[in-house]
Amino acid sequence: MIIKNNLEQILRTIPKGCKLIAVSKTHPAETVLQAYEAGQRIFGENKVQELVAKYEALPKDIEWHLIGHLQSNKVKYVAPFVHLIHSIDSLKLLQEVDKQGSKNGRIIPCLLQVHIAQEETKFGFSAEEVETLLKSSELADLKSIQLVGLMGMASFTENHQQVRNEFKSLKALFEKLKRQPLPANVRMTELSMGMSGDYPMAIEEGSTMVRVGSAIFGNRNYTTP
Ligand SMILES: *Cc1c(COP(=O)(O)O)cnc(C)c1O
Repeated sequence: MIIKNNLEQILRTIPKGCKLIAVSKTHPAETVLQAYEAGQRIFGENKVQELVAKYEALPKDIEWHLIGHLQSNKVKYVAPFVHLIHSIDSLKLLQEVDKQGSKNGRIIPCLLQVHIAQEETKFGFSAEEVETLLKSSELADLKSIQLVGLMGMASFTENHQQVRNEFKSLKALFEKLKRQPLPANVRMTELSMGMSGDYPMAIEEGSTMVRVGSAIFGNRNYTTP
């Protein structure tokens, strides 16, 4: 009941053309099912093992998005079904996704994760690295992936202006890339930015996908399984 209310409240604030990714990490399949029964069909997970377990346990019309750091040796487990990988942070990873996409007879949609936060620890490309990658023949050669946009995470800070500036910088890169000639396997349509604490601002700055966890499911408890 609480989940349904949370979903309805959030959906009222999200414009058409922006998708809600319900981030269900750490929550059991039964909890995900409550959101499913309230009508939610797009879910995001940050760990491969958890994503696969929930994919197997839950209805097959769910779109599963991988939003967390992905190791190359784990791509094979998600390649048969993943709907969108938000967290591509190297050419090597993209090449592995391409290889596994090919093995599965799929073209796997992906986003490039761009490092927009001030924090050191976040994964992702710099804006310059993205531009170089999009011009490279190594990228143009990949037949079993489709790059559909960019993903970013803002700094974890109370400084709202800083967060807004980080979203603005990602949106500016997105618009710049859209105007450039792009290879056949690239299409700049999705901008994945915004989490529970900052999604209204991300939407104001042009987000097309918000990844919202705790505002739907409540706080995560990492100490009990
Ligand atoms: C956990 C997570 C989210 C959702 O975070 P909330 O603050 O709970 O909304 C969004 N994006 C990524 C990459 C995450 O790991």
